[in-house]
This record gives sequence, C-alpha cells and structure tokens, in this order.
Amino acid sequence: MANEFFYKQPVKIWFGAGKFRQLGAILEELGCKSCVIACGRHFKPEAEALMAEVPAIKAVFGGVEQNPQLSGIVEVVKLAREHGADTVIGIGGGSSIDTAKFAAASAPGEAEPLSYYKGELPFPAKPLTIIAVPTTAGTGSEVTQVSVVSHGTEKKTINNPAFMPTAAVVDPELTYTVPPRTTMNTGLDALAHALEGYWCVNHQPIADLFSIEAVRLIMENLERAYKDGGDKEARGNMLYASLLAGLAFSNPRTAGCHACSYPLSEDYHLPHGEACAFTLDSFVRVNADERLEHLCRAAGLRDTEDLAARIRALKALAGLRRKLSDLENLNLDKLCHDCAVHGLMKNNPVVMTEEKLREMFEALQ
Ligand code: NAD
Repeated sequence: MANEFFYKQPVKIWFGAGKFRQLGAILEELGCKSCVIACGRHFKPEAEALMAEVPAIKAVFGGVEQNPQLSGIVEVVKLAREHGADTVIGIGGGSSIDTAKFAAASAPGEAEPLSYYKGELPFPAKPLTIIAVPTTAGTGSEVTQVSVVSHGTEKKTINNPAFMPTAAVVDPELTYTVPPRTTMNTGLDALAHALEGYWCVNHQPIADLFSIEAVRLIMENLERAYKDGGDKEARGNMLYASLLAGLAFSNPRTAGCHACSYPLSEDYHLPHGEACAFTLDSFVRVNADERLEHLCRAAGLRDTEDLAARIRALKALAGLRRKLSDLENLNLDKLCHDCAVHGLMKNNPVVMTEEKLREMFEALQ
C-alpha cells in the first residue's frame, strides 16, 4: 500500500515528432498574444523563421550560452518589457529553458533580475507564461520549477514555483542534431534524474513509476542515439525518457550524485551531465538496497551491479572523465568537503561523510 504523498504536475505537455511546427496553433490555444523567444545560436535561425510566420512572436534573443549567465536573462527581460510580452518561450537545452524561466518570472516586476537572483526581492506575484521547447534529451527542465543560472563564477540552482512552465512542446525532431558527446552527457543526466528521484529520501510512488520506465528506455536507447544521431526511434525514446525522468525528480528532488556534480562543474568545469555521471555508478553501489534491486529488474537489468557496470561502459564509450586523475589541479579535501556540505546531500538515503566520499572518489577507475 502507498504511504502518504504529495504529487503535483501542472505542465501541459505536447509530445511528438513535428509538434514544433504546431507551436503557432499551441500559442493560440493558450491565449498567448505577445511572445519573446530565448534560444542559443544553434536555434536562432529556426526561431527567427518562426517569428516571421507567427504574428504573436515579437522578438528573439539568440545569445543563450551554456551555463547561462544572468546577463542573457537581462536581455530577455528587456525585450519582454519592451514588447509588453505575456509569454517567454525557451527553445534549446536546459540553458535556454532556464533562461526563459528566470526571465518570465522577473519580467512582470520593475527591478533588475539581479535583485531577484540575490534574493533581495521576491519574484513578482505572477510570472509570464513559460513555454519550454527542449532540444536535448537530458535536463527535464520542461517539467520542473528549477532554474540554474550563473552570475560571474557563481552557479546557483533556484527552486521556485514561479519557474514552473505552463506548457512543454516536446518534439524529438529537434534533437536529431545533438552531437554524440552532448547526447551521452545529457542522456546520463536524465538517467541521474530517474535514479536520484527514486532513491531520494523524499521518494514517492507515482514518481517511482516514471523512474523505472525512464531507466528502461535510457538503457535501451542511449547507446543507439550516441552511435547514430539519425536513429529516430532511439531519439524519440530518449526524449520521452528525459521527460519521464524530469517528472520523476521534480517532486522528490535529487540527492548525493547531484550534490557532487556542483563542485565538479564549478571547480573542474565538467558539463552538468558529465559531472552527474562522474559519481552515478558509485552512488548506485552506495545506495543499493531492495528497492533499487526492484527498479533494476523492472527496467530489464539483472541487478544493481549490472546497472553500475552499464553506466561505466557508457562513460567509457564516450570518453567521459571518470576518475580523479582526469581532474586538473585536484584538491581532494576541498572536493569532499564541498560535496558533503551541499544542500542536496541531505536527500541521499545513505549518509555520506567527507571520509566516505573520499573512499568513493579514490575507488573510481
Ligand atoms: P545546454 O542547454 O547547455 O546545451 C549544450 C550544448 O548543446 C549547447 O552548445 C547547445 O547550443 C547545444 N545544443 C542544444 N540542443 C542542440 C541540438 N538540438 N542540436 C545541436 N546542438 C544543440 O545543455 P543541457 O545539458 O540541455 O542543459 C544544461 C543546463 O541545464 C545546465 O546549466 C544545467 O545545470 C541545467 N539543468 C537544469 C535543470 C532544471 O530542472 N532546470 C535540470 C538539470 C540541468
């Protein structure tokens, strides 16, 4: 019997190959009359072509970078205020979607986004409508109330209901061009979401189902999508899996592996997915218990050892960094300390002291 739980999923989801081409009709259905798009260089031409076709789209900011900076958000907010926008659309990976979320939450106010970033002011009561259009199969940002934003060298994860998208338009065709290494990084990010949502101390039964199916799909499709980006079935299954994985962690949140990913990204510049993958198989071993064995069997794997071995094989296949000697200018004391004190570490089902983390990192091969 299920214990008590609270589950919330307010995002309208349109999924399917070709859905991006229906964005104009979806905006109409949602009553969006004045929209601004945030995207990176790669999708700027598509966004501008869409603006030429859809009168409700008034402006495009095409300068979102990886690990998005607050300065990009400032530009999107300027455009949104100039055009009296009611909607911000993020087209891209997590970087573009998170930029759109932060801009949509800030634009209705009068202050600069920096005041909201620093927590000097609460976000305005009502954000603009947020439409998320993911182009990587990874972050699940299209269904979470999280925005990860950098200001200078500081990278902050902010969790706020104002960031919850109104709608997600999830079209596998947009992911066909993702390069192989990014395919692997983002796919392992999705796997980390599915597993962390499942073993998080706040795990709950509805989200568990999403985790199991996401792990099954990722294990069957990630290697295929990595080896052949044009494999439409594998791309579609991966994008669906990353959506499920987003739903799997958006209520319980993440745990030890994500806690470790922040120092690995900040001090050693690993992209988010590679940083999560660095310790993911170690946490499978650390957190192995009967529930995790159940997930493995239900996802078509032999057991937790099989899952850990397959994660290691995927990392090796893509040549990801995966042991301490791969980190430049390593300061192991600081790494263990920063991982142990990170806020998400308290969500891990097994207590990880600095000593235990040191043992875990030293055992990486
Ligand atoms: P990304 O958005 O930074 O994109 C990675 C690279 O891939 C970029 O150069 C981008 O231009 C390119 N790219 C994206 N889609 C492409 C496509 N279809 N074809 C070709 N190139 C493409 O990467 P990401 O992994 O999707 O997002 C990472 C960011 O999301 C990080 O800042 C991370 O911290 C954050 N994140 C947010 C959440 C959340 O819930 N909000 C969850 C996990 C991670």
